[in-house]
Amino acid sequence: MVTAANIEQFKKITRLAAEHDARLVAVSKTKPTEDILALYQAGQRVFGENYVQELVAKQPQLPGDIQWHFIGHLQTNKVKQIAPFVTMIHSVDNLKLLKEINKQALKQRRVIDCLFEVHIASEETKFGLDQAALMPLLEEVRSMPDHYAGVRLAGLMGMATNTGEEQIIRREFGYLRDLGEQVRREFPDQRDDFSELSMGMSGDYAVALEEGSTLIRIGSLLFGARPGKPA
Ligand SMILES: *Cc1c(COP(=O)(O)O)cnc(C)c1O
Repeated sequence: MVTAANIEQFKKITRLAAEHDARLVAVSKTKPTEDILALYQAGQRVFGENYVQELVAKQPQLPGDIQWHFIGHLQTNKVKQIAPFVTMIHSVDNLKLLKEINKQALKQRRVIDCLFEVHIASEETKFGLDQAALMPLLEEVRSMPDHYAGVRLAGLMGMATNTGEEQIIRREFGYLRDLGEQVRREFPDQRDDFSELSMGMSGDYAVALEEGSTLIRIGSLLFGARPGKPA
């Protein structure tokens, strides 16, 4: 349930994001459509989901002016289910996936904004690129821009280490920001301005905003804790 306290949080977070020229992605995974509508009625239009099945079930039941961002791990064979409506995909971490997003977007006569997910945390994970893998991907797209007319390379996404130590989080977010600047220097381009930095969640969004985030992805502070996860 979205409580009055959640709506207060929403207002506070939206205000802080605006002060930093950033936008809020309200992460509604596992939450019912009523909760999404409650936040919609409070003014929110950008929502993030992690699971294809769940997103395609919810999307038709909700207002058409919602911008859906896909933020979870995305399997190539599921891209076509979300390509008709998704605005941005935050989790591109391989060329095969990018090619499939491009193909499905072109079929729909759409352009889908894509962020490359970069592994910045000290924790092990199988998802996300490292810096060495990012540059060849960009070279591929830049060398054949007409091939990739269905995707717009909008920037980078990253998740910091899950720790209470602020300096560690700040350093990781700073690394992602510097990487984005490096890409803009080395691959200047009109269409793909590569200006977005998707970083910051409920526990670390304030640090992320200070380090240059343009998209904060917040779930539990807005919708309450998810089952099995502390708030
Ligand atoms: C769930 C999730 C979030 C939101 O997490 P909270 O801690 O609930 O704010 C943000 N980004 C990604 C990729 C997620 O999976």
